[in-house]
Amino acid sequence: MLHPVSRLTALLAVALLFGACSETPEPTPAPVDEHLTLGNPSGATADPAQFRNFLLPKPQFTLSYHRDRGIPNWVSWHLTRDWLGSAARQDDFRADNSLPAGWHQVTTGSYTGSGFDRGHNCPSADRTRTVADNSATFLMTNMIPQAPNNNQRTWAGLEEYCRTLVGQGNELYVMMGNYGTGGNGTNGDLSTLDQGRVTVPARIWKVVVVLPTGDNDAGRVSSSTRVIAVDTPNRNSVSADWGSYRTTVDAIEQATGYDLLSAVSSGVQTTIEARVDNGPTQ
Ligand code: MN
Ligand code: MN
Repeated sequence: MLHPVSRLTALLAVALLFGACSETPEPTPAPVDEHLTLGNPSGATADPAQFRNFLLPKPQFTLSYHRDRGIPNWVSWHLTRDWLGSAARQDDFRADNSLPAGWHQVTTGSYTGSGFDRGHNCPSADRTRTVADNSATFLMTNMIPQAPNNNQRTWAGLEEYCRTLVGQGNELYVMMGNYGTGGNGTNGDLSTLDQGRVTVPARIWKVVVVLPTGDNDAGRVSSSTRVIAVDTPNRNSVSADWGSYRTTVDAIEQATGYDLLSAVSSGVQTTIEARVDNGPTQ
């Protein structure tokens, strides 16, 4: 008589063999990306031929990468209480070696001495559930050259307010992106860093959709859902008051050519994308 473990192994082997020989495999359902629940703003695909709009999904956030700008076009992430924990800030800025073979990998050195911060898109403090989650935010594919006052004052205030909204019982869908070329950092005006490998964007935008914590998120965005859209200059003279840069989603769509919130019904999009938020800013 076979030892019980051996019997189990034999059964498993038979099951695996049967599965391998089966002629009608179970169809694999399309993977669901929680960070793109409200849509893929630029129709990015994970096709290296699409090097200006390359989809790079990660467990912690999903982005569209522009190889020749050396920065993301946009980064999208879902922010819930579940993503917030006690992991320390890892500060392990590093190249993203998951880019397609042959693509230049921007390193932290590209930004050194430029007068621009390595500005997170998905913030470190939004990903503190585990050390691995926090560390992922330090990949250089999540960074743009950001004027220090924009990063440390304007943007920091908006990021903090987003987490305040989560603390008040909401879940958020956040999209951050950039467009145009040329910013102003602590060393003056620059269009690119590192011999042209990294473009300094002219404008930095963010769209935040605020929902009370719940299910079926795309389906319950309604004409009364709060949507915060901001569009800021990537210049050190920027005001610390992020609320003064509020605009419409429509204006950001017009500036970028994207369709934001495309998974929301078009009737609801028409209403919420034309409205300028006037809610609290802290
Ligand atoms: Mn930042
Ligand atoms: Mn739209």
